[in-house]
Amino acid sequence: MNEAEIFHSCLVKWGRVSQTLMIIEELIEFQLELMHTLRSIKPFDREKLMEEYVDVSIMLEQFRTMYYFGEDEILKIKTRKLNRLKELLKDELP
Ligand SMILES: [Mg+2]
Repeated sequence: MNEAEIFHSCLVKWGRVSQTLMIIEELIEFQLELMHTLRSIKPFDREKLMEEYVDVSIMLEQFRTMYYFGEDEILKIKTRKLNRLKELLKDELP
């Protein structure tokens, strides 16, 4: 079973609303981990942060497939935004 098949099976099993709620939940978990680390509530835990990062990455990929965001469309927007950042940083870059 490849990644696309896994995402499709998740949608079939739990549905779009539940999976969208999972995206929100994973984003919150990542935010909370960052907040607790930055506020020194807990020590920096690289493994835990990576786990939450990967959870979010997986859910965002699932979101992309759920709402039919084409890779080419995403790349086009990403390129435009990176170019804007590059423009903002033009005085800083070598
Ligand atoms: Mg998580």
